[in-house]
Amino acid sequence: MEYFDLIKKFDYEQVSIIQNKKAKLFAIDVIHNTTRGPAVGGTRFMKYKNEEDALVDALKLGRAMTYKNAAAGLSCGGGKTVIMDIEEMDRKLAFQTLGRFIESFHGRRFTGRDLGVSTEDIDLMRTETKWVADETSEGVGDLSEATAFGVLQGIRACLAEAYGTDSLKGRHIAVQGVGEVGYWVVKYGIENGAKVTMADINKKAIEKTAKEFPVTVVAPDEIYEVDCDIFSPCAIGGIINSETVKKFRCKVIAGSANNALATNEDGIALFNRGILYATDYIVNAGALIQWWYRQKTFKVKDRIDARDAISDLYSVIRNVLKESKEKKLAPFIVADQYAESKLKKEKTYADINWGYAK
Ligand code: NAD
Repeated sequence: MEYFDLIKKFDYEQVSIIQNKKAKLFAIDVIHNTTRGPAVGGTRFMKYKNEEDALVDALKLGRAMTYKNAAAGLSCGGGKTVIMDIEEMDRKLAFQTLGRFIESFHGRRFTGRDLGVSTEDIDLMRTETKWVADETSEGVGDLSEATAFGVLQGIRACLAEAYGTDSLKGRHIAVQGVGEVGYWVVKYGIENGAKVTMADINKKAIEKTAKEFPVTVVAPDEIYEVDCDIFSPCAIGGIINSETVKKFRCKVIAGSANNALATNEDGIALFNRGILYATDYIVNAGALIQWWYRQKTFKVKDRIDARDAISDLYSVIRNVLKESKEKKLAPFIVADQYAESKLKKEKTYADINWGYAK
C-alpha cells in the first residue's frame, strides 16, 4: 500500500512492470512527469534485495530525472527503467523485449545507458525502437567530460558564494572517485590552478590519474577529512550521511555522484554547518544537456550551443545559493522548489498529442 501512496503523493503518470519469463527479465519502468516533454531517463541493471527495493529505486530515479531535466531547462520530462539482476538473463531477448516496450510509447518515453547497461545492450534495444540514445553517434562528444564541465560550473558558483571569487587558483579540491567523470574533474582542477587530493577504491583508476597529474593520493576513508576548499563526490550515492557529515573540513561540496545526500536531514546538517552544497542533479546534468542539444531524434525548438547551455548551470547554482541564504533553507530544498516551478504548465501528457508516432 505504501508504494501506491508514494505514487499518488508524487504524482507519477505511469508505472509499468515488464516481464518475460523466457528471457528471465523482470523490469520496472517509471514515467514520472511529461509536462515538459518526453520522459527521458536511462535503464539500470542492478542486483536488488527484492522487487520492492527495485520499485522504490525506479520511482526515486524517475522523479529525479524530471527535476534534473526541468532545472536544466530542457524540454523533457523524467522516467527511468530498472532491470532486476536476479538470475542469468538472456540479454539479447531481454533488451529486445525492453526495446519493444519502449517503442510502444511512440516517443513519450526515451531511454539510454545507466549503471550496468552497455552500449551493446542499447544496440539490442535499437533493433526494436528508435527511442534510445546513441552516445556513440557523431557529434555527441564525450559525455563524461560534459558532466565534469558541469561540475566545474557548480564548483565555481559555490566558490563565488563562499569566497567572493570563483577562481580555482590556489584552491584545494578533494575528489572522491576518479573514474569517467572524476578524472576530468581532476584535470579541470589542475588546469585551473587548484591543488588536488584524490581517493578511489580502484587502483587502476588511481594509477591512471596520478600518472598524468600532480596529485596527492589518500586512502578512500580519509578523503572526507581532507582539509580543503571543495569536496567533490564523483563515486557513489549516499556518501553524505550521518557519519560523514561531521567529518567534512571543506567550504563547498560539488560533484557528479547521484543522490549524494543519504537523507534530507543530512542536507540540512550540511547547511547548519555552513557548507555550501551544489545540488547533484543540477551540477551533474552536463551529459544530458550536451546529448539533448546534439541529438537528432527529437526536434529542439531553441537549439543553443551545448557548452553554453552547460555553462548556464553556473547561474542556476548561484541563484539557488542566493535564495537559500535569503530564505534560510538548505540548497537542496530551494533546488527542488525551482525545478517544481518549471513543471507548472497547464497541459500534461494526457492533453498533448506528441506527434512523434511514425
Ligand atoms: P565510474 O564508475 O566511471 O567512476 C566511479 C569511480 O568511483 C570508480 O573509479 C570507482 O572505483 C570509484 N569508487 C566507487 N566507490 C568508491 C568509494 N567508496 N570511494 C572512492 N572511490 C570509489 O562512474 P562515473 O561515470 O565517473 O560516474 C561517477 C558518478 O557520477 C556516479 O554516481 C554516476 O551515477 C554519476 N553521474 C555520471 C555521469 C556521467 O556522465 N558519467 C552523469 C551524471 C551522473
